[in-house]
Amino acid sequence: MTTMKREPSAVANPDRLIRPSVQRLHAYVPGEQPKIKGLIKLNTNENPYPPSARVLRSIQAAVDGRLRLYPNPTAQALREALAQHHRCRAENIVVGNGSDDLLALATRAFVEPSRGSKRENVSRCRVQYFIPSYSLYPVLADIQGARRNPVPLAEDFRLPQVAELRSQQTWDFEAALTFVTTPNAPSGRGYRTAGLEALCRAQRGVVVLDEAYVDFAQEHALSLALRYPHVLVARTFSKAYSLCFLRVGYLVGDARLIAALDKVRDSYNVNGLAQVGALATLRDLPYYQRNFRRIIRTRARLTATLAKLGFEVVPSQTNFILVRPPRHTAQAWMQELRARRILVRWFDAPAIRNYLRITVGTNAEADALVAAARQIAEG
Ligand SMILES: *Cc1c(COP(=O)(O)O)cnc(C)c1O
Repeated sequence: MTTMKREPSAVANPDRLIRPSVQRLHAYVPGEQPKIKGLIKLNTNENPYPPSARVLRSIQAAVDGRLRLYPNPTAQALREALAQHHRCRAENIVVGNGSDDLLALATRAFVEPSRGSKRENVSRCRVQYFIPSYSLYPVLADIQGARRNPVPLAEDFRLPQVAELRSQQTWDFEAALTFVTTPNAPSGRGYRTAGLEALCRAQRGVVVLDEAYVDFAQEHALSLALRYPHVLVARTFSKAYSLCFLRVGYLVGDARLIAALDKVRDSYNVNGLAQVGALATLRDLPYYQRNFRRIIRTRARLTATLAKLGFEVVPSQTNFILVRPPRHTAQAWMQELRARRILVRWFDAPAIRNYLRITVGTNAEADALVAAARQIAEG
């Protein structure tokens, strides 16, 4: 028997092989997916209802010897079905491995990396977004080597008016890429299409309206993506359509921007089972619309009940609520709820440190949350 002898390596410290910007990078922190069973999971805004029986059957029927083949590289059938659904053309749609994939592609395609020089065109290197909003945006900016431009929302999380943004002077109307989470996450607040349109009209760069939660809202802004060539709307099958596991999202917008995104994506960025599952979902929409209504009803009940217990609840147009709990710190509340086997999300960020984000689950899950909250508030 020979003993394996390790060659002395020419590379003593592999860290130095990593780009400094990547060494410094603060990666995105996903919500916990617990290993232990029996926890009530209200921390990552998943849908409490399963995909429809027809969707499950379609996916199961696709699991056979064909798994050895590459899937359709452009998700053609899915894009055509989405185009019909949104009354546009397949050329107006690009599909991604979750909408996160598309947000990354937009950053890659539209934002110039910064060289850090004083003479560069700063706006062309800028990824702009409100805070609080989706915490992935700054990470995407950092990966691209772009400049971040985070601009605080008002105290009550409403969308600032263009005139307010002009007078504040921190907002960049020329920014290469502006992300707007609408309805907002993590606040849950809905934004009126008229306000979004005014903002889009004032922007000279690309605007991505991230509508991950829009099926739980009163309005959507898809028409803006079809009317303005610099506006893209991002949608996902994850939250409203119970398909987080499969990873399917898409962007709608001007064919020229879509073609640019198509150039920089991986050839097979959407796996075959995901294409099958998303396509079957579009053929079974009434099932999902019923679930939206159920979640909206539970949201109303939960909002009213927690308000009675002394929680300050931000009005929500999503499948989660942002609440400011009474008596203890939000972090302590998160821990107390965890001890009672209920997971909620707490963000250690200045604007929302005093809040918890709670996914709206089933009525039974909401009841369990309320019972635990009662104990904690009185304890
Ligand atoms: C969940 C979420 C996404 C990502 O959704 P995927 O399609 O699962 O990648 C994008 N934006 C916001 C605001 C989200 O909350």
